[in-house]
Amino acid sequence: MIQGKNFIGGRWKETPKTYQRENPARLEEVVGLYPLSGEAEATEALVVAREAFPSWKRTPLLERAHILKEAAKRLATRGDKVARDIAREAGKPLLEARTEVRRAVDILEYYAAYAYTPFGYRVASARPRTELRTQRVPLGVVALITPWNFPIAIPTWKLAPALILGNTVVLKPASLAPIGALHLVQALEEAGLPEGVVNLVIGPGTPFGRALEKAEDLRAVSFTGSAEVGLRLKARLASLATRVQLELGGKNAYVVWKDADLVLAARQIAQGAFFYAGQKCTATSRILVHREIYEAFKETLLQEVGQLKVGDPLEEDTQVGPLIDSTAWEGTARWVERGLRDGGRLLIGGEGAREKGYFFDPTILEGLDLKAPLAQEEVFGPVATVHPVTSLEQALEAVNATRYGLSASIATRDLGIAERFLEEAEVGLAHVNQPTAGVEYQAPFGGSKGSGYGPKEQGWAALEFYGDWKTLVITPPEVRDGH
Ligand code: NAP
Repeated sequence: MIQGKNFIGGRWKETPKTYQRENPARLEEVVGLYPLSGEAEATEALVVAREAFPSWKRTPLLERAHILKEAAKRLATRGDKVARDIAREAGKPLLEARTEVRRAVDILEYYAAYAYTPFGYRVASARPRTELRTQRVPLGVVALITPWNFPIAIPTWKLAPALILGNTVVLKPASLAPIGALHLVQALEEAGLPEGVVNLVIGPGTPFGRALEKAEDLRAVSFTGSAEVGLRLKARLASLATRVQLELGGKNAYVVWKDADLVLAARQIAQGAFFYAGQKCTATSRILVHREIYEAFKETLLQEVGQLKVGDPLEEDTQVGPLIDSTAWEGTARWVERGLRDGGRLLIGGEGAREKGYFFDPTILEGLDLKAPLAQEEVFGPVATVHPVTSLEQALEAVNATRYGLSASIATRDLGIAERFLEEAEVGLAHVNQPTAGVEYQAPFGGSKGSGYGPKEQGWAALEFYGDWKTLVITPPEVRDGH
C-alpha cells in the first residue's frame, strides 16, 4: 500500500487526518493512505513557494532544464511500477497506463529542450541607437489543480512548462488518484530540485480553493476538471490579479461520412468511446453516421465494441477497466436510464456488475434526439449515442450544437468534405480519419467554448500561460538629443 505524504518546502509531511483509496477494480484492496490536507497545508505550501521563487527564477535556464531531464530519467527507470500503481488506483488499463507514463517522461524532456532553443526577440526602435527587445519571464507562484483520469500526464504537462520558465508551484492532484503526482514529485526531488520549488498538497478541493482565494501573490491557477468546478473557481478568483486557465469537459462527436473506411472508423470509435471506460475529456460520445451507410456501419461498430475486453486493469489485454468510484458508476447507470426514458434504444451494453469493482459495459443507444440531455451532457463513462445525418451541414450543426467544444473527428476519403469539417467544427481539436481522443504533446491542446478558457496547454503554446513578455528598452548613456 502507498503511504502518501505532502511535499512542502522540500520535506515529506504527514497531516493529522488521512483517507484511504481503494482499487476501483477490487474493492476490498486498499491501495493508498493519503493526507487529508486542509486550508492550513495549502497556505503553508503557497507561502513556501513564494519564498522559493526569487532563487529559482535566478537559477540558470540550463540548470532548470538539467533537473527536468534528470527527473525524466528517474521516472523512465521506474516506469512499469508507476504504470501499475496508476492501474491499481485510477483503474486505467496497463496498456494505457504505460503509454501515459511514457508521455510524462517525453513531456519533461520536451520542456527541458526549451532551454536550447532561441527565445526572445528584438524589434526596431524609432529612437537612435536604442535597442528594443523582449524576453519571457516567469510569473511567480502558480497553483496547479488536476483531475484523476490522467494522474501523471496532466500534472506533468502543467508542471514542466511552469518550472522551465522559473515559476514555483503548488500542485493539488485529485484525491481519487494522487499517485501519479506523488511519483512525479519524487522524481523531481531525486533530480535535485531545490526546496520549495514544487510543493504537493494532497486532499479535497474545497479547502484548497479557499486557500487560493486568500493567497498573497498567487499569480496563476491552471485547472483541469469538470466545467462546474472550474467555472466556479474562476468566478471566485475573478477579483484577484491571478490568471486562470481552465481545461474542462467535452461532448465529442465523430462523423462517419458515406465514403468512410467503415472498419477503421468503427475501431477508432470503439477505442475513443470505450477505452478506459470512456473516462477521458476527449472520449467519443456522439456518433453521427451518414444515413446511406447507417445500418451497415452500425453492424461493423457493434462487432468492434462487442470484442472489447472489459476487465481488471492489471491484466495485459484489458481495454475497458472500471469506473473510478461508486458515484461515477451510479451516475452512468442514471444516464442510461435517462436516455431510455427519453426515447433511446439500447444497441449494446446498458448495465454493469459492481460487486467486485465498478464495471460498466460499453453502451450505445440510438433513436435519441440530438437535443436530449444524454446527447448534450458529458457522462464520463462508457456511454455513446448514435444518430443518422443526411448532409454535412446537418452533421456540423450537430457537432457544434453543445455547450462544449473540445474534440471532433470525421472519417472520409473526400478532401473537400474534410476541409469543410476542419474549418467549421467549433472545437479546439479537429481530426480527419483519427480518433477524437489522443493528441501528441508537442501540439497545443485544449477546448473552445465551454471546454476551455485561457491559453492552450502542451506544445510551446503552454509557455504563454506560465510566462510574461517583458519589454526592454536600452539606450547607451552617451546618446544625447537624438545623436
Ligand atoms: P473535478 O471534480 O472538477 O475535480 C478536478 C480537480 O479540482 C480535483 O483535483 C478536485 O479535487 C479539485 N477541486 C474540486 N473542488 C474544488 C474547489 N472548490 N477548489 C479547487 N479545486 C477543487 O473533475 P474530475 O472528476 O477530477 O475530472 C473529470 C473532469 O475533468 C471531466 O469533466 C473531464 O472532462 C475533465 N477533464 C478535462 C481535460 C481537458 O484537458 N479538457 C482533461 C481531463 C479531464 P478533489 O479530487 O479532491 O475533489
